[in-house]
Amino acid sequence: MSLPLPTPTPDTQFFWDEVAENRLNVQYCMDCARHYFYPRSHCRFCGSGDVEWRLASGRAHLVSYIINRRVAPAFADYSPIIALVELEEGVTMMSNIVGVEADPAALTLDMPLTAVFEEREGRVLPVFTPAEAR
Ligand SMILES: [Zn+2]
Repeated sequence: MSLPLPTPTPDTQFFWDEVAENRLNVQYCMDCARHYFYPRSHCRFCGSGDVEWRLASGRAHLVSYIINRRVAPAFADYSPIIALVELEEGVTMMSNIVGVEADPAALTLDMPLTAVFEEREGRVLPVFTPAEAR
């Protein structure tokens, strides 16, 4: 069973091309001076089309998570921790937490995280790991 993976669109192609090079980028609006995610052609706050890509620091913190105890077979080799993380740039993103036990005792809300890049079936995805584990 092959793994369901994101399909790049014209709006997200740059994001995925950069992730493949282990770089995490988010868009920034030149008009209202805010970062936003997910990728799209116009600012999610003010609708401006004057937006650019900016390299993110990779620093984030844990906002929320679930531990998937009944993992679908295609995902059996990957982290069962499905998390909402907030990047230092202020955008939130769904991802996985890796490098830590899938145990609530090991997952503290607000814990500092760092973006890392995980290859899955020839594609690269951004995931996060506890910052002190680096
Ligand atoms: Zn804006």
